[in-house]
Amino acid sequence: MKIAVAKEIEVCERRVALIPDTVAKLVKQGLEVFVEAGAGEKAFFTDADYETAGAKIISDSAQLWSEADILLKVSPPQTREDGRAEIELLKPESVLISFLNPLGNPVIAQQLANRQITALSMELIPRSTRAQSMDALSSQASLAGYKAVLIAAAALPKYFPMLTTAAGTIAPAKVFIMGAGVAGLQAIATARRLGAVVEAFDIRPAVKEEVQSLGAKFVEVKLEEETVAAGGYAKEISEDSKKRTQELVASHVKNADIVITTAQVPGRQAPRLVTEEMVAQMKPGSVIVDLAAEQGGNCACTEAGKDIIWNGVTIIGPINLPSSMPVHASQLYAKNVTSLMQLLIKDKALEINFGDDIVDAACVTHGGEIRNQRVKDALQAVAV
Ligand code: NAD
Repeated sequence: MKIAVAKEIEVCERRVALIPDTVAKLVKQGLEVFVEAGAGEKAFFTDADYETAGAKIISDSAQLWSEADILLKVSPPQTREDGRAEIELLKPESVLISFLNPLGNPVIAQQLANRQITALSMELIPRSTRAQSMDALSSQASLAGYKAVLIAAAALPKYFPMLTTAAGTIAPAKVFIMGAGVAGLQAIATARRLGAVVEAFDIRPAVKEEVQSLGAKFVEVKLEEETVAAGGYAKEISEDSKKRTQELVASHVKNADIVITTAQVPGRQAPRLVTEEMVAQMKPGSVIVDLAAEQGGNCACTEAGKDIIWNGVTIIGPINLPSSMPVHASQLYAKNVTSLMQLLIKDKALEINFGDDIVDAACVTHGGEIRNQRVKDALQAVAV
């Protein structure tokens, strides 16, 4: 059975799906691993490193795609420079494992089903204890949370820690984190390590203890509706609750030197948490880093992929932050996909077992069908 690692063609994608260490482990299990030439170069893994680990390097990209039994990627398949869609290169009935964004771009699921591909979407791995080692959303969100704080610190015209010097005392920076999921919690920990005073807010009350255990103050809003959906994710809240949360957070945004927003509701536009009026109230020189920029932004002023200055406030809307740390992002992602593959391979052969809840949840297409109802609904909504 051939496991293939594709070179990413998305311009800002520097990650690679397997690193040499994980290749060596798969080869030790008796599996054949093929790596596209240059696949790891943007993450500082050379073809020679992969060869030493036991992989075969393939220069012909079309050959790699068309011969793979399991094709591994990070970003969703794209259209290549020669105009051919990567999905069209896949062998029918082969397996594709990648981030696929099937709720945001359900058309991809239809294309994969049409090609009879068994596609497993890393976004659809359940957030359960058993699936923790495969949870790429968490491994990558954690990198993003860390990097968001470093970006904010670099843009802030101030120190982070409190300093007492011969030239006077410096007050610590005030950081307000909105959304205390995986990225938000890592952002809290990073900002605390740099010496900031940190506050955090989330509509899921369950995160209060985690926030406090990291040394931050939890800004609590009591809403008269359920805010948690299946799987522990946040639900989209009513207009009334949105208004109440905005009123509550306004003063915290105003007083912050740095606001880092990470709030997401799966399959929806990111909730709007910071309005133009709130930004107008912030001190000049303050910084907002909006990790939801690609999903429409948590801040009204965010422009995805841009740093803008609005009323003296710097608003940064980074795209694909995990890719800016490709060494560790690839290392963690490689562990995630390798753990998932262990559920799909028995005695060196493919065995897709839908009795396994992780395989069942992650597998978005199989046998020419879209298997996930939410993806089907999203596809229908696009078609209307
Ligand atoms: P996410 O990226 O979907 O959202 C980030 C945060 O934004 C969440 O904490 C969410 O509650 C918050 N949010 C959404 N709307 C908001 C609003 N209007 N105002 C303020 N905050 C808002 O979340 P995630 O980081 O991927 O985590 C989702 C869930 O999965 C959490 O319950 C997390 O604890 C859980 N999880 C479980 C495991 C596990 O058990 N193995 C692993 C990872 C995550």
